[in-house]
Amino acid sequence: MANVRITRREAKRHLSGLVDDLARHIDFLGEEGITEVACSPAIAPESLPVPGTPRKISPQPPMPLAPPVSDADASAELKAIAQTVAACKKCGLHAKRRQAVPGQGNIYPDVLFIGEGPGEDEDKQGLAFVGRAGQMLTRLITRMGYTRDEVFIANIVKCRPPNNRKPLPEEMNMCRPYLEQQIAVLKPKVIVLLGASAFEGLIPRDSPWITISKVRGKWLEYQGIPTMPTFHPSYLLRNPAAMWDVWNDMQLVLTRLGRTPPPAPAKGK
Ligand code: SF4
Repeated sequence: MANVRITRREAKRHLSGLVDDLARHIDFLGEEGITEVACSPAIAPESLPVPGTPRKISPQPPMPLAPPVSDADASAELKAIAQTVAACKKCGLHAKRRQAVPGQGNIYPDVLFIGEGPGEDEDKQGLAFVGRAGQMLTRLITRMGYTRDEVFIANIVKCRPPNNRKPLPEEMNMCRPYLEQQIAVLKPKVIVLLGASAFEGLIPRDSPWITISKVRGKWLEYQGIPTMPTFHPSYLLRNPAAMWDVWNDMQLVLTRLGRTPPPAPAKGK
């Protein structure tokens, strides 16, 4: 197989993904009651150096790495998902859509924003968050120090619910596998859930009393990825004061990403 050239950043990211997967697998073995695993003598505890002891490093032949996912592979996978979504008729939402809206953005995003579903503008243009709520989201992304092209923006359901109603639980269940496939390709460092439907659609809840107002600003986890629920931009259009809560949540996101949060916006902006 021909070698694929990737950047150092992508290589580090790929390696850290492998380590995370391995750690999760070991956790899973522990949950299954398995307390020991076979390991190479090279990493057995007795062969690890005592702290403070200089390590002897002998030349080693280069180890073959697992083939990384190239930009072309990731783009092709996302395109294939989008094509499947465009032809999907799994739930009733396909009947009235102009076009499906799979989502768009960077294939290696720091942040994946997930909203509820396409509205009228999104249904017309085939792009996520391009209406008034989209403009609000763009302002938020810009304040965070990113452009829209540097993050990925998607929704829980890919087709517009009639009259912009909330998607039904069965519609979200039918559509969620597409989002799960996208997340597996994108491997975002952080997921931001915008509003109640994104939260309810992606994170199993123990109780219907756990609402977006109660969980926003608190770290959750989806498939090992830190996940921050916050209010939907359309809620901010109706309740501008909630922008302060959302901004606090995004500051937590930036800190988690190792970025210095910019100063809070001046009131009224
Ligand atoms: S909302 Fe999702 S599951 Fe339903 S038809 Fe559209 S793509 Fe398919």
